[in-house]
Amino acid sequence: MPDSISARMLLGGRLAVDFANAPSYPGMAAREPSWEELVVFLEASHVVSRERGANLMALPESDPQAAEKILSRAIRLREGLRKAFGAMVKKERIQAEWIAPINEILRITEGHDELTQDGAGWKLEFMAREGGVDWLFAAVARSAAEIIVEGSHSRLRACANPSCSLYFFDVSRTHRRRWCSMAICGNRHKVSSFAKRHG
Ligand SMILES: [Zn+2]
Repeated sequence: MPDSISARMLLGGRLAVDFANAPSYPGMAAREPSWEELVVFLEASHVVSRERGANLMALPESDPQAAEKILSRAIRLREGLRKAFGAMVKKERIQAEWIAPINEILRITEGHDELTQDGAGWKLEFMAREGGVDWLFAAVARSAAEIIVEGSHSRLRACANPSCSLYFFDVSRTHRRRWCSMAICGNRHKVSSFAKRHG
């Protein structure tokens, strides 16, 4: 997979944010992922290995019912996340029905926490037990739960470009990051405000 694709898919800064964003591009409206896009995301975010990704890619052929079940579970989880994140950035209440798909996955998940290297430091990462497809979204659900617990203190932001649907984590030093992508949404804003001033 080209680096540019994984960089674009992983600009949210947290696994659950990237999952909620996928497969949309900076500056574009949100839409549901296809099976291929879902598998590409799982690979890009290292939730599954390349071999497991290749197996999953073939699943709609070998077991269409299983693939359909996974995809609909992914879409339900993603919908819930987008609604919860949308409420969080507007400082509104998160409703229990949006959280239900996260809890359903947390309930069936087995795994453990592990310290993994994160740049110069360490972070606590949830390692889901490999195996059945039920565990595919375990790490996403865990990441989502952590963000929701942060509540209004969270650095979760929505891109300031009104035609963009992406969320991101503001880890900038000044906490004033406004765009999912400076190069795309930030630049578009600069160009349009220049045009307004000089139009
Ligand atoms: Zn954007």
